[in-house]
Amino acid sequence: MTDTTPDYAGLNLIAEAITEWFGERCPDYAEGCPSCEAWKEYDRLRTLLERNAALERERDEFRSKLSEAIDELMAAEAERIANEVLEALTAGKPEQSGWKLVPKEPSRGRLISMAVRHNHAFLINPDPSATWWSSGVKPEHRESILRNMKQLYEEAIGEGFYSPDKEAGYVTSFEKAQGSASPTPPTAGGGDA
Ligand SMILES: [Zn+2]
Repeated sequence: MTDTTPDYAGLNLIAEAITEWFGERCPDYAEGCPSCEAWKEYDRLRTLLERNAALERERDEFRSKLSEAIDELMAAEAERIANEVLEALTAGKPEQSGWKLVPKEPSRGRLISMAVRHNHAFLINPDPSATWWSSGVKPEHRESILRNMKQLYEEAIGEGFYSPDKEAGYVTSFEKAQGSASPTPPTAGGGDA
């Protein structure tokens, strides 16, 4: 990032020199007055430097936005190409197909999308005037939900508890837990949502 403030120290030196040689600004501008002309040049220089600094700021902002956009495009493109390659490699081999390459590190947008998938009201703030319940998620709860989503993502891509060698173990444990559960009467309004 370049320094994008005008050189005010330098401008002050010039202002001091003009004051010394031509005196303070006249109350009104008069053409041909050496002091007025000198101050006019000073103002012109100051305006130029400030405009230049503003342009440099704009350029830096544009550059960082552009580089963000390129990063996003490249990430999407990398994922797309990788999956095309994967598809081509496994074409005609049904036992090897059905794979998808995904990034190890989920982006923030992906986690937010997961949270929205899980709770469609994730991005909606609860109605504060509701007397007892309102759908939506409080802002202070969102980051913790995103952390949960990150754990689920890790789980899904094999960076969590799960690994293929634990497949049978998990299923057996599940069946066992289901089988040993004492039957409970269904609760009103319950059931799988
Ligand atoms: Zn003057």
